[in-house]
Amino acid sequence: MLVMKFGGTSVKDATQIHKVLEITRGRIKRKPVLVCSAHKGITDKLIQAGHKAAQTGVPDAGPILDQQRSVLKDAGCDPHMLDAYFREIEDLLRGISLVREASKRSIDYLSGFGERMSCRVIADYFTRHGLKSEAFDAFDLGYITDENFGSARPLPGYEVKMAEEFGRRVGKDVTAIITGFVGKTSNGELTTVGRNGSDFTATCFAAGLSAEECEIWTDTDGVMTADPSLIKDARSIPVMSFAEASELAYYGGRVLHPSTLLPAIKRNIPVRVLNTNRPEHPGTVITESGGDNGLPITSIAYKEGQAVITIESTMMLGQPGFLAKVFDVLGRDGVDIDMISTSEVSVSMTCPELPNLNVVVKHLEQFGRVSLVTDKTIVCVVGKNVREQKGLGAKVFTALRDSDVNVEMISQGANKINLSFLIDDAAIPRAIPALHKALFG
Ligand code: ASP
Ligand code: MG
Repeated sequence: MLVMKFGGTSVKDATQIHKVLEITRGRIKRKPVLVCSAHKGITDKLIQAGHKAAQTGVPDAGPILDQQRSVLKDAGCDPHMLDAYFREIEDLLRGISLVREASKRSIDYLSGFGERMSCRVIADYFTRHGLKSEAFDAFDLGYITDENFGSARPLPGYEVKMAEEFGRRVGKDVTAIITGFVGKTSNGELTTVGRNGSDFTATCFAAGLSAEECEIWTDTDGVMTADPSLIKDARSIPVMSFAEASELAYYGGRVLHPSTLLPAIKRNIPVRVLNTNRPEHPGTVITESGGDNGLPITSIAYKEGQAVITIESTMMLGQPGFLAKVFDVLGRDGVDIDMISTSEVSVSMTCPELPNLNVVVKHLEQFGRVSLVTDKTIVCVVGKNVREQKGLGAKVFTALRDSDVNVEMISQGANKINLSFLIDDAAIPRAIPALHKALFG
C-alpha cells in the first residue's frame, strides 16, 4: 500500500486534479490511498468568514461558496453535489454571528469543510474519468483525536483502529480519497491538526495502514536547499535523514508540516516529497539513515516573526533552580521556547510572537528586569555533521557580515546537525541569498 498526500495547490482546480488522477493511475499497482487538502485558498476563506461573522455579526459564506462552486463547474461535477455542506457552512456562520464568538472549536468545525468538500470533488472526478474512487472523512476511518482544538493529535493506539476501519469500510476495488487536516474527538466534535496539517494526517495513515512509503505531493521538486521563492537557483535535495528533515520542517522549511515525520519515524516508513507539476522529477526521499548528497550542508531554513524575551537578574548568580522557575511560568502561559542563550546574570529566549507576550513579560518580572523584542527570524543551517565541520561558522558569519546582517543569538551543538542564529526579519532578503551562495556556491 502507498499513501499519497496531495496539497492545496495540487488539487486547486480541474487541471491540477487531472494531474493527480494520472499520477495515481501510474501507481495503481502499489494500491494507492490518497490524503488530500482543500482546494488552495478555501481554508483561508473559511477561517476568515468565521472571524468576520464573530466580529461584525454578519455571516457571509459568499467567497467560500463562490470558489467551491467554480471548482465544481470546472471539474464537471453536479453543481448541487455539495449543497448539504453549503447549508451547514451557512448555518454555522449564522450561529457564530449570533453569539459573536469564533472559538477554536467553531473554527475547527468550520475550517474542516475545505477537505471534506475537496475530497468529494476529487473522488467524483476520478470515478467519472475511469478510476473508481470514494471519498472518506478521516474520522470515519479511525482518525479520532484529543480535544486540542486547532492542534489536535490522534489518540494513542489509533493505528490499530485505523487499520480495522479501513479494512471494514473501503472496498477492495476502490481508491480511497481521505480528508487531510480534520479529525473528530471521541465525543464527536470536529477537530483539526492545525494549518498545513494534511501532511501529518498522511503519515498517520501511512503508519496505521503499514504503507511501504508515504509520498507528499507538492509544488516544488522535493525539499530544496533554500526557499525557492527567495532563491532562484535553490536545488532539490535527493536524500535526507528523518533528523535533518525534522529540523528543517520545524525551522520553517515550508515543505513539510513540523509534525509530519513523527508517525513515519515511529514505523520507519520512508517519506518522499514530489512535485505534482513535474512528476518525473525524483524529488527528495527522507529515511532513517538519509544518505550522502556529496554536500556538507543540506539546507537553509528560516522562521520569521519570532520574539526574544530577556531576563536580567542577579538572582541567577549561583542559584540552582532559577531557570526551572522561569520555565514553569513560561509553560503555564503556553510559551514554546526555541533558542536559549545564557550568561551569569541574564537569559535570552526566543519564541513565536504571540498576542499574550505582554502578559508573559508581567509574569516574568518577579525574576528581574524583562525586555521583549519582536520581528526577529531564526535562521537554521542543517547538514549531516554541522558540528564537526571546521570553518563552517566562519563561512556563515563572514557571509552575513559581508551582506551587512547583524547576528544576535547563536546556537550550535544541541544536536550535531543544526547551526541556528537570530537576525532581524528585515534582513531575510539579504541574509538567505548570501548564505546560499556561500554554502552552495
Ligand atoms: N487545508 C489546510 C490548510 O490550508 C491543511 C493543509 O492544506 O494541509 O492549512
Ligand atoms: Mg502543505
